[in-house]
Amino acid sequence: MTPWIMSAAIGAIATATVLLSAIVFRKHSACGECGIRLPKIRVPTSLRQALWGGFTCQNCGTELDASGQKIRSVPFRSN
Ligand SMILES: [Zn+2]
Repeated sequence: MTPWIMSAAIGAIATATVLLSAIVFRKHSACGECGIRLPKIRVPTSLRQALWGGFTCQNCGTELDASGQKIRSVPFRSN
């Protein structure tokens, strides 16, 4: 194995480990509105959620930010 392949493989393994532990050890957040626990694997339902994080509660349908708080204000509103 050539040295650059070795370091590329080590880098890939390190990255995968960090990403995996971020998912596995992440604090389980709950819906700020109905209190139901939110899934660990986040599926964004809008572009804003994909960019900034957050959830849509599957129980009550409330839009939540990344920490599980209800989103009140709509960003970039014109009025
Ligand atoms: Zn909820």
